[in-house]
Amino acid sequence: MTVEALYQPAISKSKYLSGLQCRKLLWAAYNAKERFPPVDAADQAIFDQGHAVGNLAKDLFPHGIEVAPNTRHPDAVVAVSKSALLERRPLFEAGFRYKNAYARFDILNPIVTGGAEAWELFEVKSGTSVKDVNIPDVAIQLYILEGMGIPVARACVMHINNQYVRHGLVDPRALFVAADVTEEARAWLEEVEGDLEEFAAVIAGPEPDTAIGPHCLSPYGCPLQDRCWSFLPVHNPTTLASGRGLGFALIEKGVHDIAALPEKTGLTARQAIQVRAVREDSLQVDRDAVARFLDTLRPPLLYLDFETLATAVPLFDGVRPYQAVPFQYSLHLDHRTDKQAGHRDGVAHVGFLAEGIADPRPAFLVHLRAHLPAAGTIVAYHAPFEKRILRELARDFPAYADWVDEVEARFVDLLAPFRAFHVYHPAQMGSASIKAVLPALTGKSYGDLDVAEGMTASNEFVRVTYGEVDAEERSRVREALEAYCKLDTEAMMDLVSVLEGVRARR
Ligand code: SF4
Repeated sequence: MTVEALYQPAISKSKYLSGLQCRKLLWAAYNAKERFPPVDAADQAIFDQGHAVGNLAKDLFPHGIEVAPNTRHPDAVVAVSKSALLERRPLFEAGFRYKNAYARFDILNPIVTGGAEAWELFEVKSGTSVKDVNIPDVAIQLYILEGMGIPVARACVMHINNQYVRHGLVDPRALFVAADVTEEARAWLEEVEGDLEEFAAVIAGPEPDTAIGPHCLSPYGCPLQDRCWSFLPVHNPTTLASGRGLGFALIEKGVHDIAALPEKTGLTARQAIQVRAVREDSLQVDRDAVARFLDTLRPPLLYLDFETLATAVPLFDGVRPYQAVPFQYSLHLDHRTDKQAGHRDGVAHVGFLAEGIADPRPAFLVHLRAHLPAAGTIVAYHAPFEKRILRELARDFPAYADWVDEVEARFVDLLAPFRAFHVYHPAQMGSASIKAVLPALTGKSYGDLDVAEGMTASNEFVRVTYGEVDAEERSRVREALEAYCKLDTEAMMDLVSVLEGVRARR
């Protein structure tokens, strides 16, 4: 190795993947680290889940060695890892460098094949299938090992088996699937050396002038979007409803504001409504469609919202990986027949938030069946979600199947008129999410709440219920969860009032 090569910055496998996604992102990772926002709670929860999955996968390899567990400096890790190789035992988190590439390897397993010693490489992932981005991830690991003269017989992505159902202790042999990607990774191997040379030049050079595009969103959402996209006005083409691809194409042609779109742009009906709303700076309504929707509602109106948790490693018996397990609901019961916007007499609220560490589903079912009236329309925002949860509950708790059949038939999806843009405000920015619709149409928002969206609710419930958290923190989070879920059903009531106001404007 030349002195020059020795002093090149190491390109780790995560930076290699960043470089494949965007050269500017790679450059910033080495030259402008201050541009990266701190890791937020949602990202941290994903990392924590990844670590938990990685640790469980190690149980598949008894007598493995945790290599340099408290060491981060690559040179020190490599030195310890080279010694560990000689022991011919499974190695966890070994680290090696070849030329300017460095990686730590989730699992290396020694085998003998054709009478010769070799190694199997396992990259552990929390997902339930092999993704395209996993192939270069494995390929750079192959490149390093084989460059060092370490023979690799098999390279695998070890991912979660979505058919696994937990019964008793988690069985790692059933939870994981080792997908052999040796062939695909070898096919990619030819690219690696050239990529690494190019990336070294990018890192050492001036900031690349990379245009924004679909690569900002895939395979991972880029953390530098706020900065790179800041030249765009609020109503820019990337906000076009279901139109990100078209949006980037328009930006490339120099169209930055959807109000300035040429007439014959080939917009969908919803996009045309969105553009008209921005041009006229006004609410767009289809009163007849709104009236037809409201006519499907039968009082009493029962506004229902579920919160669920979905973990890679099932927490309870009878549950699959990532199965949505309901732990909370909010129900507003609106017994008014003569509706008046803002008038809340005749409205009651019931909530459920699971207690303790047991499977929350039995208590959830008992509570919901006891409090959900036997008549009236059940209003949910994106009702297929609540209906799916109920169907899965009926599958896992057959005694409730008849009740679920009856309940399921009474759902109406409040998302429908908003997804069709039958009522659309320019502030929705192309979205029909309740988080976008509520503030745009009512001025209310989720912004002041400690828990303000579903993924946070799920992560926080899991953290304070199954993690080591003191009673005060648990109580604070539970109050925040109750406030959040209650606001979801209140928001639905407000939106129905908005629709009634639209109909009344005839
Ligand atoms: S936001 Fe897009 S252009 Fe900017 S660094 Fe990220 S991927 Fe590259």
